[in-house]
Amino acid sequence: MTKVTKIVEAGFKPAERIASVGVSKILQIGARAAAMKRSGSPVIILGAGEPDFDTPAHIKEAAKQAIDHGETKYTALDGTPVLKQAVCDKFRRENGVDYAIDEITVGAGAKQILFNAFMATINPGDEIVIPTPYWTSYSDIVEICGGVPVLVPCDAGAGFKMTAAQLEAAITPKTRWLLLNSPSNPSGAAYTETDYRPLLDVLLANPQVWLMVDDMYEHIVYDDFAFVTPAALEPRLKERTLTINGVSKAYAMTGWRIGYAGGPKALIKAMAVIQSQSTSCPSSISQAASVAALNGDQAILEERRESFRQRRDFVVSALNAIDGISCRTPEGAFYTFASCEGMIGRTTPAGNIIGMDADFTDYLLEDANVAVVPGSAFGLSPYFRISYATSMNELKEALSRIERACSALR
Ligand code: PMP
Repeated sequence: MTKVTKIVEAGFKPAERIASVGVSKILQIGARAAAMKRSGSPVIILGAGEPDFDTPAHIKEAAKQAIDHGETKYTALDGTPVLKQAVCDKFRRENGVDYAIDEITVGAGAKQILFNAFMATINPGDEIVIPTPYWTSYSDIVEICGGVPVLVPCDAGAGFKMTAAQLEAAITPKTRWLLLNSPSNPSGAAYTETDYRPLLDVLLANPQVWLMVDDMYEHIVYDDFAFVTPAALEPRLKERTLTINGVSKAYAMTGWRIGYAGGPKALIKAMAVIQSQSTSCPSSISQAASVAALNGDQAILEERRESFRQRRDFVVSALNAIDGISCRTPEGAFYTFASCEGMIGRTTPAGNIIGMDADFTDYLLEDANVAVVPGSAFGLSPYFRISYATSMNELKEALSRIERACSALR
């Protein structure tokens, strides 16, 4: 369902490695909603995966200084020494994990880090275990790199989290990586130490499987949730764990394109080989800005967290008040992933039957002018994702439109 538009046109033959990869449903919906907006429809877009806040002033200032001081050339391949040191300090201070400088890599976003890691490690047919729902790029990157995504459904009843039994059943002699994301895009679910422990025990018993963790939403957690990362929990796994993070979500820096990771030296070196043949290095200016983000005042994180929490509480309760929709309270990130099972089989005022979640989200876009993303785009149905990284006023209007549209279904 994700791969709606294949990259195939008359006279053009794509490489086999991208034959099964398409433009994501999220981008398609975004483009359609933006086109509707341009032609005058009052569309509210709840699809974007980025904070609506601005990049903090001291970070922008550091970038301006970098330009003025001539930091405008190629940098060290996978990160300036000063940024790598800031990343080491961050891991030690916030996560209790000790990485040496040569165990750190910096790339153009966490997405490039994921790409480098998979390019550097996957042989054709290698399997990557991914709990579902998952961030759409995971399976596409794995496929581009010649791997096989092994998607393990983890529904709302399971808190959208994978169990040890599920992991054990998914592992085969071909398994190369387990990829975990906490808090999760799209579900907002986050693993506690107690959730992680049994999974880590399974990994200890399967030494051929490495662990990749995507901690991008670490700082966006609510209700005193105690964020933990596996490398801190299980030192015996640290030698085969890649801990990925970045500045995009925490510091509202999606456009600056800086992500980073800590992991075993040999893996980090192999990833640098890939990066050296693609982008050469991340932007020098963005790296200087990221040093300011990581080393600077962190009070901004708390303020923004509180603002996201208010929005989460509003969206979750508004959704649960709608007959036919149920929404688990997410521990983190800025998404809700609500079930629309109760809408399946209902009929729209125009006489169309809602057969699956994508029909429901199409209906919301066309009739209520609200753009959200169907669960099918993330590998799990029937659900839909709302990104609440937008103003409370827009959220109130959007939720009341959704409520009206749902009550119009028969
Ligand atoms: N991981 C997750 C779970 C994400 O949601 C995103 C952005 N949507 C990324 C990684 C990529 O972040 P970036 O490339 O901006 O660092």
